[in-house]
Amino acid sequence: MEAAIREHRRGRPGEDLCGRLHARTKVECVLPDTHYPRPHYALDGTAWHDALCGTCHGGGTRDGDACADCGGVGFALLELSEDEPRPGW
Ligand SMILES: [Zn+2]
Ligand SMILES: [Zn+2]
Repeated sequence: MEAAIREHRRGRPGEDLCGRLHARTKVECVLPDTHYPRPHYALDGTAWHDALCGTCHGGGTRDGDACADCGGVGFALLELSEDEPRPGW
């Protein structure tokens, strides 16, 4: 019976959010964790792609300090080389 209850909880919509933090601004992705490969998206309108940080290998720290490349979240921003103009930057 307990297993069945757990299954039910896991399947509840809106529970499994991505929650990934933006490496620079620390805004939180509010999309369900099934949003891949679409970019992360925060409530303030920020959208971004990221990947496991190559400097700290996802650990978020280097030599005991927060990793500078990813800001301690373990993921670094991906620079997508698309031909899109960047409005307002
Ligand atoms: Zn996300
Ligand atoms: Zn890092």
